[in-house]
Amino acid sequence: MIDCYCLWCGKSLRRESSLKHMFYVDDVICKSCRDKISYRPKRIKLDDITVDSLFVYEGLIREMIIQYKELSDEALFPVFLYPFIEELRRKYRGYTIVPVPSSTANNQKRGFKAVNKMFGVLNLREEEMFMKKDDFDQKEVDFKRRHEIRNHLVYEPVRVKNNKVLLVDDILTTGETIKAAYSFLAASGYKIKVLTTCYNRRFL
Ligand SMILES: [Zn+2]
Repeated sequence: MIDCYCLWCGKSLRRESSLKHMFYVDDVICKSCRDKISYRPKRIKLDDITVDSLFVYEGLIREMIIQYKELSDEALFPVFLYPFIEELRRKYRGYTIVPVPSSTANNQKRGFKAVNKMFGVLNLREEEMFMKKDDFDQKEVDFKRRHEIRNHLVYEPVRVKNNKVLLVDDILTTGETIKAAYSFLAASGYKIKVLTTCYNRRFL
């Protein structure tokens, strides 16, 4: 155990946990918090792109992501993928993580790179190949203009081992950023897999 206290509610992991949980399940949040997270792994099709995703973006996981990103609560970084670390490491062995970019301004405001840090627990190689040119924020942009996001990404391909990349993001919302990033990577001839931590309910 990294800590004896639940990273979310602060309760002691020992008191909260059954004997079995305590000895055999390693986690950074307590069982009662873990049970409230809508873990519902899903394979989503975005045109020709296959995206694997773990949680529906609602309820407690949504609160946690808001606290982590908007309120810069960096200490929460292991919460999201912790129970799946070994499984994901096996599944993506040999892949190099390529994070979907946040704007530089958001990262600076936050003081850390939320997506890189979230997926850093997998201990895979990582290369940053994308940057967002300016504060092009999808939330504030008219739906019709979202395809323009492609023009706001700066892409610099890097040679990676096995030519395999794992494009990652925290939330699959519209999928436009992923489509744009994917098209750049595909044009460079990478073998690409896509993983996001959460997905919007509309993909259910
Ligand atoms: Zn808890």
